[in-house]
Amino acid sequence: MKSPYKNKFKVSQIFKGKTHDGLDLVGIDDKNIYSTVTGKVERAGWENPDDKKQGFGLYVRIKKEDSIDRYYFGHLSKIYVTVGQTVNEGELIGVEGSTGYSTGSHCHYCVRGNASKAIIKNINNISEIPNALGTYTSTLFASKPKKTISELAKEVIAGKWGNGEERKKKLTSAGYDYTAVQKEVNRLSASKKSNLEIAKEVIAGKWGNGEERKTKLAKAGYKYSEIQPIVNRLLK
Ligand SMILES: [Zn+2]
Repeated sequence: MKSPYKNKFKVSQIFKGKTHDGLDLVGIDDKNIYSTVTGKVERAGWENPDDKKQGFGLYVRIKKEDSIDRYYFGHLSKIYVTVGQTVNEGELIGVEGSTGYSTGSHCHYCVRGNASKAIIKNINNISEIPNALGTYTSTLFASKPKKTISELAKEVIAGKWGNGEERKKKLTSAGYDYTAVQKEVNRLSASKKSNLEIAKEVIAGKWGNGEERKTKLAKAGYKYSEIQPIVNRLLK
C-alpha cells in the first residue's frame, strides 16, 4: 500500500465519500510526508492565508502525470516543494501537522478529479490502504527499483559499504543478499589486474590525470596510493 509515510502509520479516520473524501493518516515514528505520485505541484501553501484554520490549512496539491487526478496532502506543518515543480513518487514534500480545520496532527490524504470537490476518487482503491482504523506499514519505498548485484559489488569495491561485519549488516538491513553480493565482489576482485599492469595503463594515458585518475582508479577498485608510486618509478 502506498501511503505518504515511509514506514508505519495509522488510519485515524476512514474514507466516507462526500462526508469525508479522504483518509486521515498519522505517522507513527516519522512525520515526514512523501509524494505518492509523480507529477506537477499545483498548490503548495495555505488554503486561505487570511484564515489558517480554514480547510486544508497548509497543503500540497499534485497533478498526476497524464491524468486529471489531483493528490492532496492536507494539514501540514511544513512544505518543502513549490508550485510548478515536478516531484517524483517517494520525494519528500512536507511534514505532517495540524493546520487548517484540524484538531490533532494528521494528514488528510485524498484524490479529486480535476481538483473538483465533485469528483471524489476512492482513495482506498488508489492507495490500497484499507478503509479501517488501524496501524499499517507503507510500501511506498519498497516498490522502488533495487540495485543489481553487479552495481552493489562495484560499490562495495569502491568502499561504500564498509568491510567485514559492517558490510554484511549494512547490505542485509538495506534488503540485499549479502552472500550474492560478496560472491560478485570476489569474482570482480579475482579478475583485477596487477598494480604494475595498471601503472603501465596509467602511463599509456588510459586513466586520465590528477583527480580524474584518482576517481577512476578508486571506482575500479584500485588504490591510487599504491599505483602512483609505481608510475613514478617507471617514469624515472
Ligand atoms: Zn480528513
